[in-house]
Amino acid sequence: MKLNQLKYTEIKKYLEKKDCLIIPVGTCEQHGPHLPLCSDTIVAERICDEISSKYNILVAPTVNYGVNLPIDDNMTGTCGITYILLKDTLSSITQYWKNQGFRHFFVVSCHGDFFHIRALNDTGDNITVIEPYDVDISDILERQVCARHACEAETSVLLYLYPELVDMSKAIDFDVPIEKFLPYLEHKSSKKLDGYVGNIGYATYASKEKGKLIYTRMKQKAEDVIKEYLAKL
Ligand SMILES: [Zn+2]
Repeated sequence: MKLNQLKYTEIKKYLEKKDCLIIPVGTCEQHGPHLPLCSDTIVAERICDEISSKYNILVAPTVNYGVNLPIDDNMTGTCGITYILLKDTLSSITQYWKNQGFRHFFVVSCHGDFFHIRALNDTGDNITVIEPYDVDISDILERQVCARHACEAETSVLLYLYPELVDMSKAIDFDVPIEKFLPYLEHKSSKKLDGYVGNIGYATYASKEKGKLIYTRMKQKAEDVIKEYLAKL
């Protein structure tokens, strides 16, 4: 149920029964040589759409830009917005809907950049941020303990949901110790990193089977949060 495919009179009716809205937040960010720039966006949208159908909750149009790592700024096609702009965008659009009767917003994002997530969390009290990749998948992964970037986990999920968008012949493995990468995660460095082609983790270990297991857990996480809210209505 997409909000912008309904008439305003239908949305008014929806508000008689429910007061929440799901907002997918994506990125336009390089995902290594083997995954598309929309990887975060289409996975978030898929989760939102499936939950929307199951629980009859409206999904807002996707916010297609997020805050990226500075090291990726010059990777062709990558495009982002600042922490302030993301926070202001969300504040601005949710304010419209608040004025019309929406009371709560579930923001779903598959992008883990610190500043990106902080901007979503700093937007307001009536927003619950859901990070589907922030779930324990250590038992499913072979070479990683959690999701990194365009890695074993993310590539697996894309192979499961959108195999036509994945080019496994271009997938490579690249790892960097967390202490060496921390200044990049904290946006304090964007110096070229030897061997970095955009992905971090073990993309060549990805599989459709792992993707199905990971995606199921990711969706469950989002579903649990929303279900809990609906139970209190
Ligand atoms: Zn991603």
